[in-house]
Amino acid sequence: MNALTPFACSVHTHSTLCDGADTPETMAAAACAAGVQYFGFSGHSATPSPADAGTTLPADLTEYRKTVLALREAYAGRMEILLGIEQDSQTQEAVPEGLDYWIGSVHNLFDAESGKYYAVDWKEEFLAACCIEQFHGSFPALVNQYYTDVASMAVQKPTILGHIDLITKLNGDGALFDEEDRHYRGAALDALHAVDPDATLLEINTGAMCGGHRKSPYPAQFLLQEWKRMGGRVILTADAHSAKTVTYGYGMAAEAARAAGFSETTLLTAHGQLTCAL
Ligand SMILES: [Zn+2]
Ligand SMILES: [Zn+2]
Repeated sequence: MNALTPFACSVHTHSTLCDGADTPETMAAAACAAGVQYFGFSGHSATPSPADAGTTLPADLTEYRKTVLALREAYAGRMEILLGIEQDSQTQEAVPEGLDYWIGSVHNLFDAESGKYYAVDWKEEFLAACCIEQFHGSFPALVNQYYTDVASMAVQKPTILGHIDLITKLNGDGALFDEEDRHYRGAALDALHAVDPDATLLEINTGAMCGGHRKSPYPAQFLLQEWKRMGGRVILTADAHSAKTVTYGYGMAAEAARAAGFSETTLLTAHGQLTCAL
């Protein structure tokens, strides 16, 4: 087997079984062709948000498991296929048993008063409506709730904490809130401090770069530097929603990790974690 590089692992991926553009078969074939040795499916878990209908896995994962396990068989000896899920913070069901790993992510905020869900990473209109309707126009309050939800997810000790600062996705150059602001950073750091460095990997996620939303991967450098100080470990992910992006932007993700002082990244395998030099 060739020496491992960060490109050997891609475990944050989506297919047509949730909101991805390509079938699981096409995703696996593209990963194998790209030299990926550990490829994971992490379909979105079902949520009660009406806006998520048709873009997540069903609550019953029987078909999903069958499809992924059949691909695992088909690629045996060439590429290891892992069965995972991206568990949304609003999902009612517990994290399913029998998975190789799970990614814990916040994509939606829930307004208990109105019973409405608001996606924070989808459309600016949704985020703006959330701010006005749920938080009386206060972005700092919205950001606080987002990071409170991230902290609640973190304490459940996911294998990987998903895009910790996803709330910045639609913020552009600070159009909605100031990412340098002390309160913003305090809220984000509080969430990070809820993550157990011995249990959870922080992902360096390039997903929003390929959609043109961000010029750098999640998370911001100040979070990565603090994670390094906490003794945490990182994993590079593409949050790939198409076959051509299975390792998109990994070079920049590695650069971001090195800039924060990391010299190694983690590779997830079906038999545990490996480390590899950045
Ligand atoms: Zn996500
Ligand atoms: Zn994802």
